[in-house]
Amino acid sequence: MILTNDNYYSLEANKDYMSVSQFKELIGTSAKSACEYTGVSKLNGDIEFELEPTTSLLVGSYVDAYFEGTLDIFRSEHPELYKKTGDKGLKADFVQAENIINRIENDKLFKEYMSGEKQRIMTNNLFGIDWKIKMDSYFPGDKIVDLKVMRDMNAIYSEKLHRKTDFIHYWGYDIQGAVYQKIVELTTGKKLPFFIACATKESPSNIEIIEITQPHLDNALHFVEENIDKALALKNGSAPAKRCNNCVYCRLTKMLVSPITIDDILLPE
Ligand SMILES: [Zn+2]
Repeated sequence: MILTNDNYYSLEANKDYMSVSQFKELIGTSAKSACEYTGVSKLNGDIEFELEPTTSLLVGSYVDAYFEGTLDIFRSEHPELYKKTGDKGLKADFVQAENIINRIENDKLFKEYMSGEKQRIMTNNLFGIDWKIKMDSYFPGDKIVDLKVMRDMNAIYSEKLHRKTDFIHYWGYDIQGAVYQKIVELTTGKKLPFFIACATKESPSNIEIIEITQPHLDNALHFVEENIDKALALKNGSAPAKRCNNCVYCRLTKMLVSPITIDDILLPE
């Protein structure tokens, strides 16, 4: 199948290709466990309902759409961005999205890093399977940049590690960088540095360009290699998908079979 911006996120594309988000939904990151049941259900198309995107997610999508050059379409598809009464202007949360965009537009370095080729799709075979990637800002022969609109850049407590960790490792942006770098290298022969262009939803917005340096990318690629067989087994149904019993989808589809004991409540997942 030939991937385009229209079919990139389709069920069919997700079945034909592995992606970083699919991998993270099946395996998790070095600091965060996945809900295998949700990951597999999504791949099988069993999750028919679209979870209402939260306002917080929509703020991120609003900024993404601006940099993709698709803000007009995004606005027309989301009437909930606007107040229903009064001046019918943007709701406060999306005024904040505009503030984030202005903050970025006023920073020379940030703007420069976001000025690459937008939404460039690439595919290649890595660890025996086909992967798809979509780059936010690609500079052929020079660098790869991905835009992240975050709540903040604070450390996050990891249940998996039993300690705080940085948001890059927690959300697996190191995994994204490692796979993007490798797919680009396999496709073009050039090994490029990977940067996160981060803007926060704080007021005023905090901004940073963060290079995920090579040792972190190497570790992350190793993590992918170690877990790819399990991801594939979950994907093709040869391994049972465990429920986390705690996420949105697990809570929604939970059917009690027997009581648990008091000790089960505190057990880590
Ligand atoms: Zn779950």
